[in-house]
Amino acid sequence: MPETKEYELLQRPISVVKGVTARRTALLSRCGVATLWDALTFFPYRYEDYSKIVRPDQAKEGSEALVYGKVLSVKAEKTFKKRLKLVKVLIENSGSTALGVWFNQPWIADKFEVGKKVLFHGVCHGSLGCVQMTNPDVIYLEDDFHPDNYEGKRLPVYHTTESLSQNVLRGIMASLVKEALPSFKEYLTSEELRKNGLSNISEAVALLHSPNRAGEEEIARAKRRLIVDEFFALQVGNVLTKKVMQKENYEAHHLVPGKLIVDFLNTLPFKLTKDQLSVLSEIKNDMLSPRPMHRLLQGDVGSGKTVVAATAMLMAVESGYNAAIMAPTEILARQHYETLKKWCDKIGVDVLFSYGGMKAKEKKELLKRFEEEKNFLLVGTHSLLHVREAVPNLGLVVIDEQHKFGVAQRAMLRVAKSVPDTLIMTATPIPRSLAMTLYGHLDISVIKAPPEGRIPVKTYVVTPERLPSVWNFIKKEASLGHQAYIVYPQIDESDKREAKAAAEMYEVLSKKVFPDLKLGLVHGRLEKEEKEETMRKFRDGEISVLICTTVIEVGVDVPNASVMVIEDAQRFGLAQLHQLRGRIGRGKLQSYCVLVDNTPLEKGNEEFSQPLLTGMTENRRLEVMAKTCDGFEIAEADMELRGPGEFFGEKQSGHPTLYLANPNRDKRELVLAKELAEKMIEAYERGELAPEVKEAFLTRVALRYGAEFTMPGF
Ligand code: ADP
Ligand code: MG
Repeated sequence: MPETKEYELLQRPISVVKGVTARRTALLSRCGVATLWDALTFFPYRYEDYSKIVRPDQAKEGSEALVYGKVLSVKAEKTFKKRLKLVKVLIENSGSTALGVWFNQPWIADKFEVGKKVLFHGVCHGSLGCVQMTNPDVIYLEDDFHPDNYEGKRLPVYHTTESLSQNVLRGIMASLVKEALPSFKEYLTSEELRKNGLSNISEAVALLHSPNRAGEEEIARAKRRLIVDEFFALQVGNVLTKKVMQKENYEAHHLVPGKLIVDFLNTLPFKLTKDQLSVLSEIKNDMLSPRPMHRLLQGDVGSGKTVVAATAMLMAVESGYNAAIMAPTEILARQHYETLKKWCDKIGVDVLFSYGGMKAKEKKELLKRFEEEKNFLLVGTHSLLHVREAVPNLGLVVIDEQHKFGVAQRAMLRVAKSVPDTLIMTATPIPRSLAMTLYGHLDISVIKAPPEGRIPVKTYVVTPERLPSVWNFIKKEASLGHQAYIVYPQIDESDKREAKAAAEMYEVLSKKVFPDLKLGLVHGRLEKEEKEETMRKFRDGEISVLICTTVIEVGVDVPNASVMVIEDAQRFGLAQLHQLRGRIGRGKLQSYCVLVDNTPLEKGNEEFSQPLLTGMTENRRLEVMAKTCDGFEIAEADMELRGPGEFFGEKQSGHPTLYLANPNRDKRELVLAKELAEKMIEAYERGELAPEVKEAFLTRVALRYGAEFTMPGF
């Protein structure tokens, strides 16, 4: 696919913009903003509305208001009986006064200075002729602030990070948007816009970042344009993929399962569950049909997807084909290899392994084995993509944890003369509406219930003060021969102050806290060999406590691990917490998950209302984890609390991300986007797009899928 000029311009790092220093670049990258395109789509999550600024005497009792005044007095007191710490701040404006009261936040007092201008934001109560506000949000103003200049103005509020104040962030964002905006052009015709009541896309982006005096309705309209845009980009991918699929040459003729499958199921140490059986019957029907299978299998961590994949692969083998399974990491690939080998040895089917670091001799032997008549299962990492062409008669490909694979890589799997059946497995429980939007080109199967006899993980949310007793608990579990994970947020190169980076804590914990236990450390920046060696030791029980980052997130299986402590749990997405927690409770042991909520009560120089906002949200989010182990329930709750944009926690999860659009809510926009995408692609194929429209359209597709994405026939 040709790269457009605009695509290249928008892919530039934010550091190209004047005033964006190395430090700021690092801070912004923590917010997920690395390129100019990231900046354009890093929308404010709310606005500060200065249109309601009033004097104290204008505030209505019982309603929300933004009250403006100068600080008259600041008092820190203690209530007599309850020993509550109180802070009272009185502000004054044209002779009328308002009193702000805070409970148990004594530090608030230090933030005020008599004579300075402030805004209180909150609900007003009347009290003794003076407006009173409990725990109002505060905006500290510059001396030259004058309400008339702000009258009716809205300022954007972005999700920010420690040591990046909202004001500074606003300034940086304004220059980034200014630089980026000219490269993001409308790709719909003015007629389409008018007909569907949509605003121009670059105007919409500009408005969302700096609405100035725009009203609610205007903002909603701009937002709607971008919701349609997000869906549009996704639908283009789905429509194109579907087109590719229709042209695929498919030759596999799978047979009705016979003796091999019966033998296989009989040698398993367990019976398949109802869900596993019904998914298998869907897969079987796909495999028997004269069209290629494109199926997404969703099943929570531990729900037993591997055995389903194995059965499907053996169905291919029994029909005279070879089958392959591709995992995102070598650790996982090796795990699959061992599991499959254990199962398949009993029924006389060979399992082969392909990995990145294979020596020339090994590779040669593998290629030679491919040529032999006896059918096999092949397990591997990305390296499979390089041997794929050499595998004769590939009847089925299983892709595990597909979200770690890029679109381009998935496309490569399909380059062959004739395509195999494809089963994609994901452990991220995606709400159904979202799954159908994101993966509209796939059929979807779900394993809902885990195998019976699994003991739900007990989950607790604690504050850091409780850690000593958590450590004691780990010691107790270790004395019973059980193992534990302690998880820290990913080591972040850009932030050296990351107080509890796994590496540092490893030192502290192994020397001071668990001197008698064997600890291991795994994080993303270690050498591969070192990482794998440590993982092996943990799996073999040579290590009792594994200190790690989210590198263990996907698929690692150590049934003897009964405890997981997740530090700074508030920083993870629920979907991610759920994935992490899925590492325990896999055996017969009662397992325990401890979520350490480090939400700071006081947030230094940070934007005024954030502690309140995030504080509430974090608690509610983490509570969901304590309440249920059902991934779909958690996914629904997360989507509701944070919207699909935040749903996957990490931008890098690789799942298509929606920032503003919510398929549960924006059903009309979804339908419209699909129509527009289909029309656009048709016009493109007929060569009917005006040059500038074509350019803008290709830019949009590249921004969504990367420049490697190939459109069929281009
Ligand atoms: P995931 O869906 O996360 O890949 P796995 O396939 O690794 O889950 O299964 C988790 C564990 O459950 C494995 O140890 C597997 O052998 C076991 N298992 C799978 N299916 C069943 C079943 N029907 N009954 C009991 N145990 C099962
Ligand atoms: Mg798995």
